[in-house]
Amino acid sequence: MRIKNKTRVLVIEDDDVDRESIHQFVGDEFHLMYSEEGLLGLEEAKQVNPDCIVLDYRLPDIDGLALLPELLAENIPVVMLTSSGNESVAVEAMKLGAIDYIPKASLTSLRLKMAIQQAVDTIAMQRKIAEQQEDMKSFISVASHDLRAPLRHVGRFCELARRESQGVVSSEIEGYLDRAVNCCKRMQDLLDSLVTFARCGRSEIELVPVSLNQVAEQAIANLSVEIDETNAKIDTGELSSVLGHEPSLIELFQNLIGNAIKYSGDHAPAVVLRTSFSEGELTLSVRDNGIGISEEYHAQVFEPFRRLHGHAAIEGSGIGLACCKRIVDHHRGRIWVESKTGHGSTFFITLQPFSEAPATLGDLPSTEANCSLSQGLNSRDLDDEGHSHISFLPSFHRSESV
Ligand code: ADP
Repeated sequence: MRIKNKTRVLVIEDDDVDRESIHQFVGDEFHLMYSEEGLLGLEEAKQVNPDCIVLDYRLPDIDGLALLPELLAENIPVVMLTSSGNESVAVEAMKLGAIDYIPKASLTSLRLKMAIQQAVDTIAMQRKIAEQQEDMKSFISVASHDLRAPLRHVGRFCELARRESQGVVSSEIEGYLDRAVNCCKRMQDLLDSLVTFARCGRSEIELVPVSLNQVAEQAIANLSVEIDETNAKIDTGELSSVLGHEPSLIELFQNLIGNAIKYSGDHAPAVVLRTSFSEGELTLSVRDNGIGISEEYHAQVFEPFRRLHGHAAIEGSGIGLACCKRIVDHHRGRIWVESKTGHGSTFFITLQPFSEAPATLGDLPSTEANCSLSQGLNSRDLDDEGHSHISFLPSFHRSESV
């Protein structure tokens, strides 16, 4: 029977004393169910679909670590109980996907309550994200297929009407048809931008060591036409390595360097890239000598479709910096601009420096040490080679042009 409003927790634990302690610690708060064996616990989990599982590492029939993936496959969050001095088990459990671990010696009522609550909240958040990603997928499909086809037809018919009516209708009507054709073209471009923005950073990314010099090199190669045309000078200096997703970082660099060239005004563009360290954080700066941005727009330029110039004056869609922000968000960094009109702009981005140090227990999100899942890299994001897996979180909102 489902107990209303109480979080249902399956405790897989063979030790009577430990079961009793757990009951005393959180029995009032949660609806507890028990299993004394691992495989029976798995069967029970499948049947009752609890909100959370508290799993002992040492079980009579199966090792808790071996059981963990099976339980996680049921999409149920797991808090692992480990013996003291068993740090490697804790690291392994977190890597496999446990939400938290608690050494039995430090099991307290508060600690267990927080761990269970965090596990339940995390899975709820993951489910919401998965739903949003599904919504985003259908949005992209509608925008890229269903809307595009009729729009293309409208454009074609307007063009045909313009051709057939040349010299037959008044110049005023020809002007209207011209404008209709241009509007269709503009709307197609907007749809493309919308899809680009929605796709930007959608997939699961793996954060691996990336050389920012190589990223800059690739971005510069992709911009070679613009660089040649404007005689732009790009000074990349010695850049550091970061934990990042190379294709996204190339896109980021390309947008920032591309903008520095596009908004250079009357000067030959000069762009300077640098990295610096402060308090364990790496900051990348991209400085240009262009037209600058008035202070009141410093935050707004990162919003999708926010442009400070008419399409006719300088071509653009207003999604470049919004994509940059999304990429940086997915790297759990920050992006901002410092600039004054007429005095160039400097874009700053914080990223995670790449260090060769292996993951240790100190990096793990124990409930007391790290209640906020949104901050910093957790060891459970790391795979065997120290790579990190992070899902892009979709968020989408429109805003009017400035
Ligand atoms: P787009 O360039 O397509 O308009 P972005 O999102 O890249 O879109 O930029 C948003 C707005 O921010 C631009 O329209 C421009 O007004 C301003 N901007 C971006 N980068 C620079 C820069 N380096 N210098 C001056 N203005 C910039």
